[in-house]
Amino acid sequence: MLVSGNEILQKAHKENYGVGAFNFVNYEMLSTIFEAADEKKSPIIVQASEGAIKYLGIDMAVGMVKILANRYPHIPVALHLDHGTSYESCVKAIRAGFTSVMIDASHHPFLENLQETKRVVEVAHCAGVSVEAELGRLMGIEDNISVDEKDACLVNPKEAEEFVKESKVDFLAPAIGTSHGAFKFKGEPKLDFERLIEVKRLTNIPLVLHGASAIPNEVREAFLQSGGDLKGSKGVPFEFLQEAIKGGINKINTDTDLRIAFMSEVRRVANEDKTQFDLRKFFAPAKDFMRKVIAERMEILGSAGKI
Ligand SMILES: [Zn+2]
Repeated sequence: MLVSGNEILQKAHKENYGVGAFNFVNYEMLSTIFEAADEKKSPIIVQASEGAIKYLGIDMAVGMVKILANRYPHIPVALHLDHGTSYESCVKAIRAGFTSVMIDASHHPFLENLQETKRVVEVAHCAGVSVEAELGRLMGIEDNISVDEKDACLVNPKEAEEFVKESKVDFLAPAIGTSHGAFKFKGEPKLDFERLIEVKRLTNIPLVLHGASAIPNEVREAFLQSGGDLKGSKGVPFEFLQEAIKGGINKINTDTDLRIAFMSEVRRVANEDKTQFDLRKFFAPAKDFMRKVIAERMEILGSAGKI
């Protein structure tokens, strides 16, 4: 059943577990996320970036989610706009049927970010739609980074408190050291858990971890064995995800892991049978592997069995 982001994340916030927010760009990814949720009895957030919306068409993105939400009425699902870049983009998504939106004005100074978020919250809450905002800039923490530099790019807990109070935003993504893509850390993976705990204490709302793909060994190996290359890539280790959830993270954005899993199977089939051109022969095993990765993630985040 299609519900607001708040309905899913308030429960996770109160019961202290994490819910995967999985990105999709086509029917294969989206249906696989639902299948894994059905298998694991887990609530889900499915999210589309502006790029994915452009690729699919907003009516198709919403239409597919609605059809699958009806097919699996027992699964609470929220449809979330990932990294909305403007007020207009958020309004468009709300009008089209999204039940949760992110307004990402985190590259602007604090006050501008706050004003833009406030505007989105006002219109979204009228429609029963939840809003996520981001504070700080996403980047890895390097060992040699100075305290000043760290303060400049990571979230400031006092600011987070003021931001949430003023904007009435539903969830906040505090920058604590993750980054997007497959290359998250130059040295050892490192996240600022103390900062996270302080943000949670001062805001007391669901928090979001962006750039939270783990690139587990099984996924990495499958990709390499199929002939892919993941030079120097590093994900967020499972222990870190669990530590982050203990510290107050409730929404865990996961995209890269799904892409790598899916494409490693597509490439394997392509290599093994050069005469093959039936799309289903590529997509069925790709979906199987992706479903396994998502199901395992639901166990790790603690959302399995929560419906
Ligand atoms: Zn993100």
